[in-house]
Amino acid sequence: MGRSLTELRAVGPWIAARIHGWLDAPPDILEPDETRKGFLTMAEVRRVLDAEPEWERTPHADLQVHTTDSDGGLPLPEMAARARGLGRPFIAITDHSKSLTIANGMDEGRLADQIVRIGHLNAELAASGDPFRVLRSIEMDVFPDGTCDMEPHTLAPLDLVLGAFHSKLRIREDQTERYLAALREPSVHVLAHPQARMYGRRTGVRADWARVFAEAAERGKAVEIDATPARQDLSVELARVAMAEGVRWFSMGSDAHSASELQFLPFGLATAALAGIPRERILSYRTVDEVVAWGRELRAG
Ligand SMILES: [Zn+2]
Repeated sequence: MGRSLTELRAVGPWIAARIHGWLDAPPDILEPDETRKGFLTMAEVRRVLDAEPEWERTPHADLQVHTTDSDGGLPLPEMAARARGLGRPFIAITDHSKSLTIANGMDEGRLADQIVRIGHLNAELAASGDPFRVLRSIEMDVFPDGTCDMEPHTLAPLDLVLGAFHSKLRIREDQTERYLAALREPSVHVLAHPQARMYGRRTGVRADWARVFAEAAERGKAVEIDATPARQDLSVELARVAMAEGVRWFSMGSDAHSASELQFLPFGLATAALAGIPRERILSYRTVDEVVAWGRELRAG
């Protein structure tokens, strides 16, 4: 007290006067706009996971990964190798389906070809005694009426089908019915990035989330926590609603389109931790055999 700010390094009379000005009359801190609310920062993610290290210490799979088969940056074997290098016990390859042409979505023929290549990759891993596995999966487009864009029989060989909305995401009217229809679609295992929000761009689709999650709970379907920082979808707030409505299964994926994005997963772990979701209810924390069996049972009804 009583000493001049100019005693500090690099603070001259001009900077000292500015600092005094700010202290006397703090500038208005603007509220973030709606598209920027409810996102965790990396610092918050670290604080949560450092306090509960079991979230990172327990092996966990990445259940949303893209490759050059749609709009990802690396071919399937390289993306798998990079995820394996990060210690993921298994991953799901979830390239886009055919109606998402902007993302080079796969038609039925290309999906069938990918399924064969994943089969070969898994056979090679097994032959070399490597426990890492790749699930055959897809991020399938669901239309606003709840119908899907792929021939149902072509989805039968898949271990996991993620259903996602990619159109009419800025509509302001309540869209509960489209979510209920998607959850009733027999081929869909996981409702992917449910709210479809995007940081700084859109707040996401509006729905009666309690009803949507109650339907998922009733049908034993999973809802996703998409860990891409700009998505964080479900948010902590919605993940809490999902828990309150009795959702039994959660899926977690980085939604990586490049190798570095495989490291987004901690945003999902922190979201789950803050929402009080037990790890045993997150498919990523189950064994690969359990997830495959879960997918089969759900499809069998
Ligand atoms: Zn995706």
